Amino acid sequence: MTIASPIPVQQTLPGTRSNLAVMGVLRFSFGTMGSGKSTLALQIHHNLTHGGLRGALCSMLDRKGARVSSRLGVSAEAVVIDPSVDLRDVARNNGEPLDYLVCDEAQFYTPEQIEQLAEVVDELRLDVFAFGLLTDFRGRLFPGTARLLELADISEALQCEARCWCGDRATHNARVVDGVQVYEGALMVVDDPEAVPDIRYELRCRKHWTEGQGRPDIIL
Ligand SMILES: [Zn+2]
Repeated sequence: MTIASPIPVQQTLPGTRSNLAVMGVLRFSFGTMGSGKSTLALQIHHNLTHGGLRGALCSMLDRKGARVSSRLGVSAEAVVIDPSVDLRDVARNNGEPLDYLVCDEAQFYTPEQIEQLAEVVDELRLDVFAFGLLTDFRGRLFPGTARLLELADISEALQCEARCWCGDRATHNARVVDGVQVYEGALMVVDDPEAVPDIRYELRCRKHWTEGQGRPDIIL
């Protein structure tokens, strides 16, 4: 679309994307571990970059530091987000606003950071693609996830479903400490094979998450 104007509009406003005709979208895609969130985040980032757009791949507490890595083995450099980061600054990019943000592990963002994402969509017209878990090991919505569900233009469940050991659809992430499922503890603990005690996350259906039952041949 061409705008018949002799004066280039909006190009003089610092921190504002020039093409204001384009609406941004805040899209939240959620799923359990193993549902392909990081893989999809990497794919979208790749496609948009390849298409000439400028954006940032953001993550928090990824398994490999300042990267987003997929369990399938693909990875890319990422901007590491911690609670002190203002995502509006990331989007403004020192006066050269980005076109999009891809946010992996968005369940760990603070509610205020989710509000910043909504603001950059509305004010800078960025597209934001957020990926995250719905619930924590206690079966409660992550605070960042709750805010995303409240604010996102589009919320969608990823269709690449993971399975419980029993074969049913996995809907919950169980935290397993030294082989026993726990329902209380610090919210943010990443699984680290070197750590003591041994903390892992396992996918369970609701029934086996509720009962705290892992695969029988692992328990026995
Ligand atoms: Zn099950």
